[in-house]
Amino acid sequence: MVKISCKDYGFDCKFQVNDNESNAINRFQKHSMVIHGIEYSSGTLNQIVMRIKNHS
Ligand SMILES: [Zn+2]
Repeated sequence: MVKISCKDYGFDCKFQVNDNESNAINRFQKHSMVIHGIEYSSGTLNQIVMRIKNHS
């Protein structure tokens, strides 16, 4: 399980995902695109998840 919080990436937003790795990536990717108009690549999100996992 990984947790990704939108506010950790500079958004004033309460959205967070707490899910297995691939679901968390998919859901965060979709949210960023729809709500913030930012399209993260899967590579970028993989790096983000990797960083989160290393810190937990
Ligand atoms: Zn957000």
